[in-house]
Amino acid sequence: SVYLDYNASAPIDSRVLDYMVEIYKGTLGNADSRTHDFGETSRQVVEKARNEVANLLSIKKDEVFFTSGATESNNIVLLGLKEYTELTGKKHIITSSIEHKAILETTKHLQQLGFKVDYVAPERDGRVLPEKVFNLLRKDTLLVSIMHVNNETGAIQPVQEIGNYLFDKDVFFHVDATQSFGKLVDELRVLKYDMLSMSAHKLGGPQGIGALILKKKRYKLPPVKNIMYGGPQEHGVRPGTTPVALVAGLGKACELAVSEYKENAEKCCAIRNCLLQMLKESGTSYQINGNLQYCVPNTLNICFDGISSEALMLATKQYCSISNGSACNSHSYSPSYVLTAMGLPEEQIESSIRVSWGALTDIQLVQIEFGRLLEYVKGMQ
Ligand code: PLP
Repeated sequence: SVYLDYNASAPIDSRVLDYMVEIYKGTLGNADSRTHDFGETSRQVVEKARNEVANLLSIKKDEVFFTSGATESNNIVLLGLKEYTELTGKKHIITSSIEHKAILETTKHLQQLGFKVDYVAPERDGRVLPEKVFNLLRKDTLLVSIMHVNNETGAIQPVQEIGNYLFDKDVFFHVDATQSFGKLVDELRVLKYDMLSMSAHKLGGPQGIGALILKKKRYKLPPVKNIMYGGPQEHGVRPGTTPVALVAGLGKACELAVSEYKENAEKCCAIRNCLLQMLKESGTSYQINGNLQYCVPNTLNICFDGISSEALMLATKQYCSISNGSACNSHSYSPSYVLTAMGLPEEQIESSIRVSWGALTDIQLVQIEFGRLLEYVKGMQ
């Protein structure tokens, strides 16, 4: 069986795990204890990791705030801006209808609190047009939040254009970079944004740790207010004892990504080419959702005409671990809201699966197991 659900969670890199075990085995102090060496050692581990995150993004170390992951980072951005609203009176947010639920459920909550939220629909190719975002800007727009790469389709969003346009405007720009962090490294290093969210487990780090980046460009203090109350950790942006080994794992994953991202992208491309070739030669009737020209090299969203994705996943799960819709929806089937927003017909959505992989994916295993899946599809069509 081959694991092809990296966009839901990628396996931890063994080098990351080894480093974390090393940290766990050393006596872990509280990184905020200043009275003994254990605390100091832990603090150094945490600060080294902060440097690695900053280095990967070419930003300053004190712009990095550790959180439990992108869900929390997204929540802090949206809910933490409330304070800012009270100061400025601004209550308008622009986002897209293909964001992760960690954005969409939070904006829904903000709407109940009186915020005005506009959701930009993507084009048929899964990309949000920057002009559609710009046309919605108002005097009271507080925040624009657009993801870098969509988790279901792999579609790269035009965040560079949006960031450039908003740079000199009095509007915050947040980017959910969960699916691009450590992958589209060159793009993220030049991207203009105020806030950015990521999770370690999408790039070979551990689950339960991530970061929120708050750029100091336009303000001295973070514009967001803490949404939890507690200790002074992470400058109060995210109180709670710092999980030293998890942070160390995130740092290690960043260090590896810095030196390997180009090679990783090439390996992912090779697997994509292999999958595309197999599809072409399979004799199945299929379509690729989205536009490959704007797609990250580790994701394919495929529609097998006339085949229920639910039935397909069930029948072939001993060959391939794949998904339809996003992971958070996949225990009860509801048609993918992302493909729906793209305007695809219902029967195409119901027949679509997401396949996602990483640099460590074994291409030979893919050939065998995905080949079996294709045989099944051909038999059913
Ligand atoms: N944002 C995007 C684009 C994602 O793909 C995910 C995870 O699938 C998240 C946010 C949430 O990440 P986590 O579950 O690690 O908090």
